[in-house]
Amino acid sequence: MQKKHPYLRDKLSIEQRAKFQRGTNVGVLAHEYFPGGIDMSPSSPAQFPKKVQETMENFNNPTVNVMYEAVFQHNDTLIMLDMLVRDCDKWVAVEVKSSLRLSDTYYNDAALQYYVLHGCGVPLSDFKLMYLNADYVKDGSIDVKQLFKLESVLEYVVEREEFVRKNVERLKTVVALPHSPVVNIGTQCHNPYPCDFQGHCWKHVPKNSYLFTTALDDETLFQHYFNGVNNNTKMLQQLDPNSMEAQQIEALETSSYYIDYKTLYSLLPQPKPKSVAYLNLLLHRPAVPEIDGTKPYEEMILAFALQGEHENAAAMSSLQGLEGGMGSMAAANNCFVWNCFEDHNRWHEAIPILVEKLSHYELIVCFTPQNLTTTLLRHEIIQNREVGYKVFNLFDVLQQAHFYHPTIKRGLTLQRLSEAVFSEIKLFEHSRIILEATSQDLLGYQQAMEDLITENKVVAKTYQLFFK
Ligand code: SF4
Repeated sequence: MQKKHPYLRDKLSIEQRAKFQRGTNVGVLAHEYFPGGIDMSPSSPAQFPKKVQETMENFNNPTVNVMYEAVFQHNDTLIMLDMLVRDCDKWVAVEVKSSLRLSDTYYNDAALQYYVLHGCGVPLSDFKLMYLNADYVKDGSIDVKQLFKLESVLEYVVEREEFVRKNVERLKTVVALPHSPVVNIGTQCHNPYPCDFQGHCWKHVPKNSYLFTTALDDETLFQHYFNGVNNNTKMLQQLDPNSMEAQQIEALETSSYYIDYKTLYSLLPQPKPKSVAYLNLLLHRPAVPEIDGTKPYEEMILAFALQGEHENAAAMSSLQGLEGGMGSMAAANNCFVWNCFEDHNRWHEAIPILVEKLSHYELIVCFTPQNLTTTLLRHEIIQNREVGYKVFNLFDVLQQAHFYHPTIKRGLTLQRLSEAVFSEIKLFEHSRIILEATSQDLLGYQQAMEDLITENKVVAKTYQLFFK
């Protein structure tokens, strides 16, 4: 598909773009580990042949000691290597990963690159993966020698060469076909990664197909599909009407959602809390630490929105003593917002504000895949679990109550929940990624705060829908 019909590929989401951008930023910083190199990055794919040629010229030029994004091609396989560093009469290949640990995916990636480098006759003294050092603590300007760790994978990639060669040959026969191969949809569309061509390949599948249910695993669903069960009616004939799968199909048929109310009500906070607040934290984990004393991916609170009866102009005045050191904050319509977008160094100032404000409530409702209590403990917003309020995470509660809607086939998010329950509210969850995206400007910050408030409203509406 990528070769014959690249235009059918789904558009990259902002989240995916932000992730790629993060990888690129870390990769560029890593160049400082081996400074003074020549950047071979092509400005467009059309430049690849030219860059392959220039790479070989630099490779043979004894005055060139380091190349970034060197482009090599062997047996119709093209790679761009993050760094190639001269080591006497040989070279060290270095591939950079913006992670704290290495995985099989990275090792296999390196194996493919080694296959091409070896095929091009590049004599290697080593092949290293470079990744972020979890123990590095920023102290002044970034020390790249301490920020990154290097691990030799030469032995592994040499061992994998034959495996790579066989796969390259196999895949070459696929791309040599006049058309992309005709393959039915199946478990491969989601596993090991969601495929980028689903928008095209799945367009014949009705939006309310049982293939979008979650009670049965994908393998079982596709077994039925390949056995001729091509609509919900046929699927229902195979199922116990009381099974969760049948109930999910019923929700699909009625364009509704499914929830196990018995479990849901059993999770209702008891006794009924007198005061409820809704908390939405915007956490930020920069791959490269921004603030002295922090480590790669260390978490900070960059903004929050708190909705509750005590959040009004009068409540603000009780915080006068704290105001001197505060970031940007505002309170209106029972909603208090705070952020330190313009100066991340001030993020700790969120802590005393949260300590003070949360203490006015009996129940703090949130929606997060993380454990909010753990987050509050980590930042010493609470000292132990015996605080005066309870934390009620709708994310956990809805999962325990088997909340189902076709939008959540790929995981429960607030955006998908909102789509399922309040179709009139459009949630973008822009605030979650604003800090990773390129638009770090005032408009972007304003949008992020508006999103935090809107998200909080959805959390409040969901809580009230199910528990009031
Ligand atoms: S969506 Fe599924 S069938 Fe289509 S290209 Fe991707 S993996 Fe193959």
